[in-house]
Amino acid sequence: MSQPIRPLSLLVRAAIGLLIGGVAHAAEPASSIVVHCGTLIDPAASAQPLSERSIVIEQGRVVRVDSGFTAAPAGAQTIDLRKATCLPGFIDSHTHLTMEFGKGAYLSKFVDTDGDIAYKAARNAKTVLMTGFTTVRDLGGQHLVDVALKNAIERGDVPGPRMLVATNLLSISGGHGDPSAGYREELFHPTEADGVVDGVDSAIRGTRIAIKRGADVIKVTATGGVMSVADHGSGPQFTSPELQAIVETAKSHGLKVAAHAHGDEGAYIAVSAGVSSVEHGTYLTPKTYALMKKNHVYLVPTVIAGASVAEAAKTPGFFPPSVQAKALEIGPLMVAALGRAWKAGVPIAFGTDSGVYPHGRNAREFGYMVEAGVPPFEAIRAATQNAADLLDRSKDIGTLQPGHFADIVAVQGDPLTDIRLLERISFVMKQGRTYKADGNPVAF
Ligand SMILES: [Zn+2]
Repeated sequence: MSQPIRPLSLLVRAAIGLLIGGVAHAAEPASSIVVHCGTLIDPAASAQPLSERSIVIEQGRVVRVDSGFTAAPAGAQTIDLRKATCLPGFIDSHTHLTMEFGKGAYLSKFVDTDGDIAYKAARNAKTVLMTGFTTVRDLGGQHLVDVALKNAIERGDVPGPRMLVATNLLSISGGHGDPSAGYREELFHPTEADGVVDGVDSAIRGTRIAIKRGADVIKVTATGGVMSVADHGSGPQFTSPELQAIVETAKSHGLKVAAHAHGDEGAYIAVSAGVSSVEHGTYLTPKTYALMKKNHVYLVPTVIAGASVAEAAKTPGFFPPSVQAKALEIGPLMVAALGRAWKAGVPIAFGTDSGVYPHGRNAREFGYMVEAGVPPFEAIRAATQNAADLLDRSKDIGTLQPGHFADIVAVQGDPLTDIRLLERISFVMKQGRTYKADGNPVAF
């Protein structure tokens, strides 16, 4: 049954005005929109898929969700997704929009100008948005291009997901995030401003510099990593006092800390120090899972990154030899690692390490999550409600409840039956503006 749409009360209009005050707009959306959804899957709002819902949008925000297909008020736009399944726009909690690994990518750090990096990043941002990701947490950029890209997207200069950025990630000398590690010494001279820090005072300075430069989140490399040339993937890198200093400094500015960690010891030290998420988590043990669960620390699994680098490593010469060896060792372990974490009850937030594999394949992570044993509905929750919680943005993203941004994606068919349908998103709206309709990008 249809219900008539009631005119918005002045009070609600005033509340919306207050909510959007001070927020930069990507573009001017139609001020009043009604989206008819055949099915709506919104884990934060309902434990079951809801059939025949109308999402009423004013000035980029959801005003309410009605049962049935309600008529649009005069002058409002109606979007017909009656044959589709709608979901809140997805959140990728771990991307690198300013980079993309591929054959020969290790050469790019010697030849790309900041302008080259920026144009490629703008392309990556558009690609990721078009596959249904309306928000990303970008965990490590280059030359502050991540900050510039975030601002350009907010101004509406280029299409892309809403971004939270880390600027330079923090690493010890010779660690996973040290850009000079493995190269001739005279080529690179990283400083604290580049995120290379040693000792408590230096860690504090590095954190403050990242915040000064526009970081929304602090990223640390608590263990070695796969894609760096010099270090091993699993050993701990920062000391406990260093990590505690970083977390305390970030917290005093209202920021969370994300810890890259494959090895268990480094992850445990990071979780004990108060980080909010462990990225990758390949070798974690029950002891670390228990502490993560107790402290509500999210695992961001990035299984697709492991699978992709393991596959790429089979091509001779794709990676330098040290990276190839690590990719072949660590990559295949990540799906099982997620399965263990899920069984242990660790909170999971969706994240893919986009850029370690070609941008735009982000939604393949859903399939890997289900393969690991995460039920499809919970995989969707990880990419909506849980990721919004991790990003401290539960008040405006991750669900389509009233007051939240109108970030809506849609797909043909039932993703709870076939999760891989989410790799073929046909409709994308961010903040009330449609970027993709009927499977095609809308002219920007
Ligand atoms: Zn990463």
